[in-house]
Amino acid sequence: MALKFRQKIKQATGKVRRFALVHFQKNYVDRQMALRQGECNRCGNCCEILFRCPFLIKEDGGSVCSIYEDRPGQCAAFPINEKCLADVDFDCSFTFDVPAAHPQQPILFQIASPASNRRAADS
Ligand code: SF4
Repeated sequence: MALKFRQKIKQATGKVRRFALVHFQKNYVDRQMALRQGECNRCGNCCEILFRCPFLIKEDGGSVCSIYEDRPGQCAAFPINEKCLADVDFDCSFTFDVPAAHPQQPILFQIASPASNRRAADS
């Protein structure tokens, strides 16, 4: 029960984080898109984070977004970084071309995370 609650808090935080990145950290998102490897396999896992998106259509061959051309920026940009991959338990066909121990963080989240600031200063 506690684990489920914590997981839901983590997923909700991830949704807010992606929204903020797409709207306020566009340069970071662009850099991350350049580091992203792979192609979407249409599993639809990112459309079921926290709740099932009402625009998700499940088909035999995978998932389809019924508003694909008009989907929100945070959907189009998923996954932005490894934290996004963690939100789907790494069950996503994308990967990032950066060492997991030193994920690049946008300035917005470096300020909010003193531990990552220390790591960056040590390296
Ligand atoms: S979780 Fe990854 S592979 Fe699956 S639909 Fe989303 S972006 Fe595509």
